[in-house]
Amino acid sequence: MNNSDDKYPILMNVAARPDVVFSRGEGNWLFDKSGNAYLDFVQGWAVNSLGHCPPALVRTLTRQAKNLWNASPAFYNKPMVELAASLTSACCMDQVFFASSGAEANEGAIKLARKWAQIHKPQAFEIVTATGSFHGRTLATMSASGKPSFEMLFNPKVEGFCKVPFNDIDAMKTVIGKNTIAVMLEPIQGEAGVIPATSHYLKEVAALCKQHNTLLILDEIQTGIGRTGKFLAAEGYGVSPDILTLGKGLGGGAPLSALLAKKHCCCFVPGDQGGTFSGNPLLTAVGMEVLNTVNTGGFLTEVKTMSCYFQGLLKSLFGIESVRGEGLLLAVNFPQGGANKFVERAFEKRVLINAPNDYCVRFMPALNVSKQAIDELYVTLQTLLELSNKSLFK
Ligand SMILES: *Cc1c(COP(=O)(O)O)cnc(C)c1O
Repeated sequence: MNNSDDKYPILMNVAARPDVVFSRGEGNWLFDKSGNAYLDFVQGWAVNSLGHCPPALVRTLTRQAKNLWNASPAFYNKPMVELAASLTSACCMDQVFFASSGAEANEGAIKLARKWAQIHKPQAFEIVTATGSFHGRTLATMSASGKPSFEMLFNPKVEGFCKVPFNDIDAMKTVIGKNTIAVMLEPIQGEAGVIPATSHYLKEVAALCKQHNTLLILDEIQTGIGRTGKFLAAEGYGVSPDILTLGKGLGGGAPLSALLAKKHCCCFVPGDQGGTFSGNPLLTAVGMEVLNTVNTGGFLTEVKTMSCYFQGLLKSLFGIESVRGEGLLLAVNFPQGGANKFVERAFEKRVLINAPNDYCVRFMPALNVSKQAIDELYVTLQTLLELSNKSLFK
């Protein structure tokens, strides 16, 4: 892949971008400035939950843009309180704080847990997270993350995080105790390559947390808002966290995230938490429209139907054992490596897919992806696999 920083040296060098400039999106498709169409199964990193420029969101955004953008987080506004009511109810949570990015929501979750501990578990400060986890790119959320490549970056890290192997209940038992204030997990580790928690693991962790007077924080930034075919992935595990974070799909592509909590740990007081963009009406109005759409009868059933159809095709191509994930957060294994190359070759065929690492390819299409779009992806994947089996791309 070319590095765009040769092309646009004015941009800080934070990503190796291909030499294409995108200018328009529509549903499952992105268009570059020459008008070439790209089939998009990345969707802005699982954020465009309803696809590119969905008419309902465009209508809501333009209507709100004519009324009010930001009244300051120090005042109430209508979309803020409406979304707060709907979202807390949909998540079985009591209170919410709105922010703009997933990292900011998780940073808030860490702060809320520390505040709770000051009151309920003084002297304790440790938060247990999982190896391979990803919680964001602020200093505290990078410190919380168990992503191996973060280990040597930006030291010294924020203190107070302890990492244990994911899906290993015995490892959790050995660290959780009187110094633990919270356990923070993703129900399905997205950036690690779509690794689901096993069905008993989350339940057992939740029980351990209760036993040790410790909060359970679930990071559903990637898995929430219908991505897995359920409104929250936690529902599938029969687990309800004390603190929950949402982002990505919540704004349908607009920067909106949320920190939610049960009443017993809602202990922020004025001065503890805030943000200039918190609860701004422009984006909370959009979030409300996303929520209404996802919670409309039949929407999540359709996500599950499309997931089954998509998984069937992936299994026929890559083998039954190789496919994992839930709903429309799916991945296939590349046990010999080569996933990055595969994604580059797909890009050349104007299909956008993603490799979280060289050993798997991830798919995160719009939640309303069509059968036709999945079929088109299938044809490209099939062609690429034939080429790769003939070792025509190295
Ligand atoms: C993307 C992601 C984040 C970070 O969200 P940003 O909006 O990029 O800050 C945190 N946790 C999980 C699980 C994510 O997938």
